[in-house]
Amino acid sequence: MGAMNTVPGDLADKAKIDFGCFEEGCDGSVSFRLADMNSRTFQAVCPKCHRPYELDAALKEKLNRLLHLIDSIREAEDILGDCYVSVNVAGGSVRVPYALLLTRLNTLITLNYGGRSVDFHLRVEPSSPETFR
Ligand SMILES: [Zn+2]
Repeated sequence: MGAMNTVPGDLADKAKIDFGCFEEGCDGSVSFRLADMNSRTFQAVCPKCHRPYELDAALKEKLNRLLHLIDSIREAEDILGDCYVSVNVAGGSVRVPYALLLTRLNTLITLNYGGRSVDFHLRVEPSSPETFR
């Protein structure tokens, strides 16, 4: 475990974040790798309208912390394979593997950016294709 403001390079490389462009009438999706975000000169750019985005330190810190959370989850991969969430439904209950919740569903964090609520989608490639089968 490193300091709170650094994310293992391996994970930062695999993690991608994207959000919808703010520009009126633009449906572009601004995406970037977390590894790139942590570089000093980083600027995200909308691929459609080329609007530039600079993320402030507070926002970067939150995204980095989210990555740390995911890193901890990945460290527990072998245990999580045996964990289930029990959901009550009509006529009984369903057991959903914890790993399924964490990997098949997209992680989304809503943060304040430039005075608006923005949904940041986060995707991390599984550490191995066999993981969470
Ligand atoms: Zn745009």
